[in-house]
Parts: sequence; structure tokens; C-alpha cells
Amino acid sequence: MKLVSACLLGVRCAWSDDNEYRNERAIKLSKVETFIPVCPEQLGGLSTPRAPQEIQGGTGDDVLNGRCSVLNKNGQDVTRKFTRGAEETLQLACQLGIKEFIGKSGSPSCGCSRIYDGSFSGRLIDGDGVTTALLRRSGVKIIPEEDL
Ligand code: SF4
Repeated sequence: MKLVSACLLGVRCAWSDDNEYRNERAIKLSKVETFIPVCPEQLGGLSTPRAPQEIQGGTGDDVLNGRCSVLNKNGQDVTRKFTRGAEETLQLACQLGIKEFIGKSGSPSCGCSRIYDGSFSGRLIDGDGVTTALLRRSGVKIIPEEDL
């Protein structure tokens, strides 16, 4: 059993309210493995659609350590929603005994090893999203969607 970013399975939970993040490989695998879809941003209380959001001046680990924030493109601070979504996702993983997470590339929540740099210009930096960072800290194996 694996947790998977819900948008990879075609769920319309992305900020843009469409299914552009569908990953056909993830959908194919979901027919032969048990995948539990999660959207940490929705679990944290954010709506769909929503303004794009990026971590400012750091990574998901920095957010968890209180060293930087997550802002949306309108300048609103959504850090608490992100940490809450990460906590809810971890709780689900613990409750169900799930040890693996398949994450959406680049996302400030679900990104694995590469995330957007906070400038809303499409530039990527090294680092995990907030949920991925919390799951990794807790011993969950992180699988980037590219590795499927
Ligand atoms: Fe939700 Fe994660 Fe997909 Fe963003 S990347 S829409 S938080 S599942």
C-alpha cells in the first residue's frame, strides 16, 4: 500500500482546478497496487481552485523548522495550512501503516528533491515540499513520480 499525490491519479485537486498533473504510469500502477490518494493542501484546509503557492527562501524542511514561510501569489501566508496538511498526511500514513509515498514533482507540498524556488517563475531548486519533508523525517520512503 502506498500514499500518492491525488493529482497524479487525475483528481482535480491542484490549484488550477484541472487534471493537468495526471500521470498515466501512476494510474496504470493503481490498478495493480493499493494506492491511497491524498492532497495535503486540501487536507490543510485550502480550497480548489486556489492561488499558486511557493516556499519562500528555503525548502519544506526549513518550513518545518520555522525558518521560512509559504506564500501564495497574492502575498498571503499559507504556512499553517501547509504544515497542517503535512501532519494530517503523516497521521494517515501512521494509521494505515503506509511506508511509501509517491509525490508530485515541484510541488511545495508533495515535491520530492526538487521544488519551485519561490519566485513564481518556474525555476527549480533542490529540496522537498513540506509534506514530503515530514514524511521523509518519519521514515517513509519517498518515490518521485519520475521514478515510476
Ligand atoms: Fe495536492 Fe500534492 Fe497534488 Fe498539490 S501536488 S494538488 S498538494 S496532491
